[in-house]
Amino acid sequence: MNELDDFRAEVAAWFRDNRPPEPDFLLPESFMEVGTDAQFDYLRSWQRKIYEAGYLGMAWPVAYGGGGHAQIHQDIVNAEMVRQKVPFVPNTIGLNWAGPLILAIGTEAEKQRYIKGILNADDIWCQGFSEPDQGSDLAASQTRATRDGEHYILNGAKIWTSLGSYAKYMILLARTNPAEPRYGGLSFFLAPMRTPGIETQPIRKLTGEYGFTQTFFRDARIPADCLMGREGEGWKIAMMTLTFERGASGGQAGGTARLAPGVVDVIELARTTRRDGRPAIEDPLMRDQLVRFLIEDQGDRLCAARGAIPALCHERPQAIPLSQKLRTSEHRHRLTQFAIGLQGANAARWVGDANAFEGGKWQRAYLNSFSSTIGGGTSQIQANIVAERVLGLPKD
Ligand SMILES: Cc1cc2nc3c(=O)[nH]c(=O)nc-3n(C[C@H](O)[C@H](O)[C@H](O)COP(=O)(O)OP(=O)(O)OC[C@H]3O[C@@H](n4cnc5c(N)ncnc54)[C@H](O)[C@@H]3O)c2cc1C
Repeated sequence: MNELDDFRAEVAAWFRDNRPPEPDFLLPESFMEVGTDAQFDYLRSWQRKIYEAGYLGMAWPVAYGGGGHAQIHQDIVNAEMVRQKVPFVPNTIGLNWAGPLILAIGTEAEKQRYIKGILNADDIWCQGFSEPDQGSDLAASQTRATRDGEHYILNGAKIWTSLGSYAKYMILLARTNPAEPRYGGLSFFLAPMRTPGIETQPIRKLTGEYGFTQTFFRDARIPADCLMGREGEGWKIAMMTLTFERGASGGQAGGTARLAPGVVDVIELARTTRRDGRPAIEDPLMRDQLVRFLIEDQGDRLCAARGAIPALCHERPQAIPLSQKLRTSEHRHRLTQFAIGLQGANAARWVGDANAFEGGKWQRAYLNSFSSTIGGGTSQIQANIVAERVLGLPKD
């Protein structure tokens, strides 16, 4: 066994031995659905435990609380978390986009102030990009940040703020120069949420659960040193943030296992549901579809591995990273839809119904599967990005 095999075995044993006990409430499927204090406290303690064991931020610098190891170590931990289906950690925005961003372009003071709190879950982060009147068209953001001496005064509203109820900081895109209607008038802030004048209002989702908020800014004064970079650089920094968010840049600190069901779970479901008096898995059409899902799933996994080997992607180096979110989120959506279809008339049952398959988790997973096809940029926007930046097609 080489050193990495030893490490993999050590990680596997740690997660096996330290998996948190099953809670007596339903856990969210991803960080976008953390809606109750009980869910949040449970997941935050879990993050602390993983960090203290050294399994988060493994490749981040030791000076800021990271492990100082090669990224492959974090990749192994991530894969093991997925394999063992352990709960995810809640600070996804901090660990996987705000943190890498601060490490890439932040000042020394910003790294010292924010990185450790991201890792140990003391400081939860949220993202204030989308607004009630513009989501896809981010450059049209209207929330204002007006300089006033040693402060900026914030006014406006953001929406769909995942973790908005629990976050201490927000990565915030706001307009500092209203004379410049689009890109050049935007600036980027690392904004403290516990500021008088910043209020969050939870929004109920399709599933009946909570997870994001509308966030209001009413003459909220934040220190001027919350500005990241210089005034007018907001668009550039937001675009860099999205490359971390959409997985097109590396350096994330991990913890993103999902509790949502996958292909293997759907195969199990096909064994237990019945069609024409026989297990659904015996129906050739069902089998055909299941094999297609399996091939797609395996293809995605191999694609990700191939994307890490530059010699295999030299013709279109951005093709795999830029299409990853589109492929995987749409796959999950079709997969959960298929799983609902397997249940026939029982598809209409919901969480809490004694006759629902596996407590209604499939219905919840199906409705939640819309989240990733919208959050972080809709599938249509992702398809546009692939068309323009990978295939070189014209904008119009
Ligand atoms: C679960 C979830 C979590 C989220 N979390 C956050 C968060 O933490 N922070 C945050 O800031 N935002 C968050 N969002 C918001 C998300 O980023 C936006 O919803 C998304 O960018 C789309 O914006 P919109 O809702 O305003 O839709 P619109 O931009 O109004 O789009 C409406 C429809 O038009 C299509 N469309 C728009 N423009 C084009 C175009 N140029 N070409 C083709 N089709 C187009 C879209 O694909 C969509 O189908 C979250 C969303 C969800 C669902």
